[in-house]
Amino acid sequence: MELHDKLEKEFRLSEFQKKALKKMGILSVEDLLYYFPVRYGDTSQIKSIEFLVKGESAVVFGKISGLKISKAWIKKIPMSEAVVEDETGKIKLVWFHQPYIAKMIHEGQMVRVEGRVSEKRTKIPSSSEGGLYMSNPKIERSSADIAVAGHISLFGHDIESHSLYPVYPESRGVTSNWLYHAIQKVMSRRHLDIVVDPIPEDILKKYSLPSIRTAFIWIHSPKTADNALSARKRFAFQEIFFIQLQKQKEKKLWSQKSAFNIETNKKDVAEFVKRFPFKPTESQLKAIEMIISDFKRGYPMSRLLEGDVGSGKTAVAATTIYAVTKTHPRGLPGALQTAYMVPTEILAKQHYENFIQYFQHLPIKIGLITGSECQIFPSKSNPTKPTKISRAQLLKWVANGEVPILIGTHALVYKSVVFKHLAFTIIDEQHRFGTLQRQKLTQRNEQQDYAVPHLLSMTATPIPRTLALTIYGDLDLTLLDQMPHGRKPIITEIISPTERSRAYEDIRKELKSGRQLFVICPRIDEPDPTRELAVIAKSIVVEADRLRQHVFPEFSIDILHSKMTPTEKENIMKDFSSGKTKILVATSVVEVGVNVPNATMIVIEGAERFGLAQLHQLRGRVIRSNHQAYCFVFTESKGPKTKDRLKALITAKNGFELAEFDLAQRGAGELYGRKQWGISDLAMEAIKNIKMVEASRTEAIRIVEEDENFKKYPQIQEYFKNQTDKIHFE
Ligand code: ADP
Ligand code: MG
Repeated sequence: MELHDKLEKEFRLSEFQKKALKKMGILSVEDLLYYFPVRYGDTSQIKSIEFLVKGESAVVFGKISGLKISKAWIKKIPMSEAVVEDETGKIKLVWFHQPYIAKMIHEGQMVRVEGRVSEKRTKIPSSSEGGLYMSNPKIERSSADIAVAGHISLFGHDIESHSLYPVYPESRGVTSNWLYHAIQKVMSRRHLDIVVDPIPEDILKKYSLPSIRTAFIWIHSPKTADNALSARKRFAFQEIFFIQLQKQKEKKLWSQKSAFNIETNKKDVAEFVKRFPFKPTESQLKAIEMIISDFKRGYPMSRLLEGDVGSGKTAVAATTIYAVTKTHPRGLPGALQTAYMVPTEILAKQHYENFIQYFQHLPIKIGLITGSECQIFPSKSNPTKPTKISRAQLLKWVANGEVPILIGTHALVYKSVVFKHLAFTIIDEQHRFGTLQRQKLTQRNEQQDYAVPHLLSMTATPIPRTLALTIYGDLDLTLLDQMPHGRKPIITEIISPTERSRAYEDIRKELKSGRQLFVICPRIDEPDPTRELAVIAKSIVVEADRLRQHVFPEFSIDILHSKMTPTEKENIMKDFSSGKTKILVATSVVEVGVNVPNATMIVIEGAERFGLAQLHQLRGRVIRSNHQAYCFVFTESKGPKTKDRLKALITAKNGFELAEFDLAQRGAGELYGRKQWGISDLAMEAIKNIKMVEASRTEAIRIVEEDENFKKYPQIQEYFKNQTDKIHFE
C-alpha cells in the first residue's frame, strides 16, 4: 500500500470515470487526499420531509422509490419521476428533459436531494402526500450516516457530530458524493498512517499547525468549522512554504555561479542619461544604480523591475545595456553582449526602433531577431537606418561577438542562437514567458561554464507584495513607483449604460481634434482557452461593426486580436501608429506595452469582468504622451457595488494599491490563482495574510541558508522528489 498507488488499485473505475479523474488531476491515492472541498454544507439545514413548505429551498435525505420514465402532461416532454422518503414522510420528485436520471439511481437507494419545493394545484396522482413536489432537484447518492446525522442535529441531540459535510468540485461522472466516499475509504484504510509530514515538526509547533494526518481528517470531515479552517491554513502554509523553499534554493544556487564583472564608469552613464529627451525620475535613477551595483557583485544578478505601464522601464534597460556594452571582456576582442527578449513581434520591432534612437550616436550594432525576420542596425548604405539581413548572417555576427545588442522574441532562445559573450539578459513582460524560456535565455553562451549572464526581468503587472514575495522569492525586487514628470494624470470615468451616448460624444470631440482610440473588449471566462480566443475574436469583429455602423461611421476602424498572423498584426499596428486608423478594437490579451503616443483614449467594455489591477494596466496604454489621456470604463452592471469597486480606479495612487485592493476583495474572481500565478486557490487565500507569508519565508530562508540540499530534512527532499516525479508522470 502506497500513497502513489494508482486509484485503480483501490477502486473499481469505469473508463469514463478514469478519464474524468485524470482531467481533475486525480491519479493516485495521494491526489485524492489532496483534493480539497470547496465548501462545507451544513447538515443542520437538512429538513425532514414532513416539515417542507412550498417555496423553500431544502435538502432532504431519504430512500428513493417509484422510479420511472414518463412523458409530461403538456408537450409530452420526457421526464423522470421518483419519490423520496424519510422517517417523517414522502415527497415527489420530477425531472423534465432528464429521462436518464431514472436510470442513474436505483430503487431503495439512499439519496441526498436538494431543490425548491413547489406545489401543484391539482394533486399529483402518484403522490400520496398532497401536492408538494420538487422539480429538477439536484440528486446524489448518499450514505445513511449523513442522513442520520442530519436527523440528529435537527433534533438537537448532538450538534457536534458531523454537522458539516464536504462539497467537492465535481466533474461529469465524478460527483462530490463519490469523492466523499472515496476519500473516506482511503482514510479508513490506514493510508493516513503512511503519510509523512513534509513540514518539519518544529515549524508545525512554532506556528500551531495541525499535523498532516489531523489536517487531512479535518479538511475532509471536520467536526467544527474551526477544524476545517485550521486544516486549510496548514495546507496553505505548506504550499507557500514549499514554493519559498524552492525559490530560496534557486536563489542560493544562482548566487554560487560566476558572472561577468562589469565595472561601470559613472560619468559615462551620466552622459548617456543626459541625452534622453526627458528628465529621468528618481525611481529610474535609483533602479539604474541598483542594477549597476549588482553587475559587480561577482555573481549574476537576478532582479525584477516592476513598474506601471509608462513608468519608463525601457530607459532603465537601455542605460544598463549601455553600461554593459562599454565593458570589454578582458583580453578578448568585441564587447559584452546583451539579449533583450519581448513577448511579441510588434513589441520587438518597437523596442528595436527605440533602441536605435538610444544608441544611434554610438558605434554599436543592434540586431533584431523574430520568427519571421532579422535586421541589423546600422545599414551599410545608410548609417541612420536599419536593414533586413539573413538569419545566417545575423547569427554569425552574434556568435562572433560583433553584435553587442540583440533584441527579439522567443526566437532568441532557438538552439541556433549562440553568443560569444552574453553578459546581460533582459526579459520584458516577464510573466508572459515560461520558466524554461527564461532559463534557456541565460544559457546561450558559447562557453556556458565560463560565466552566467546577469538577468533583469521587467513587468508591468502590479501584484500584491505578499504574492511577489512568494512567486518571485528568488528575485531581488525593484519598484518603479514614480511616473515621469509632467505627465497629466489620466482622466478615468466609470460609464453606466445610460451614459454611453454622452461618452461617445466626448470621444468624438477628441477624435475630431486628431487623437486616437483603443476599444478593449472583455475577457471571457471560458474553461477552454482555445475557445476563449475564438469567442473573443468574434466579439471584436462584432463590436467593430457596431461602432462602424452606429457610432463612429466617420472614422476609420480596425481590429486586432491574437488569432491574427504576425504580419497581419504588424500591418494593423503600422496603420494605427501612423494615424491612418483612428480606432483600434482589440482584445485585452494582445500587445501589452504597445506605444502609440497619439492614442490618448481607451474604452474598456465589460469592465466588471476585469480585476482592478488589470484595468489599470489596460489604461496604461494611453498614458504615453503629454496629451490629456482618457479612460472610459464601460460597465453593463447597474448595481452600485460594481461601480463602487471600479471607483478605486479613480482614487488609487498606483497599480500596486489596486492589486492589494483586488486581493482584499478576492472572491469576485479578480485574481485567477492557478491559472495566472500557478498557485492554488487555497494558497491564494493565504496570500492575503502577510504574517503567514512572512513566517513561511523566514523558515524557508533559515533552512536553505544552513542546508540547501535539505540533508537534515528527508521529508522535504521527499516532497520535492514527488513533485518532480509527478511532472514526469504527467
Ligand atoms: P514602460 O515602463 O511601460 O516600459 P516605457 O519605457 O515604454 O514604459 O516608457 C513610456 C514612455 O515614457 C516612452 O515614450 C518614454 O520615452 C517615456 N519616458 C520614459 N521615462 C520618462 C521620463 N522620466 N520622463 C518623461 N518621459 C519618459
Ligand atoms: Mg515596456
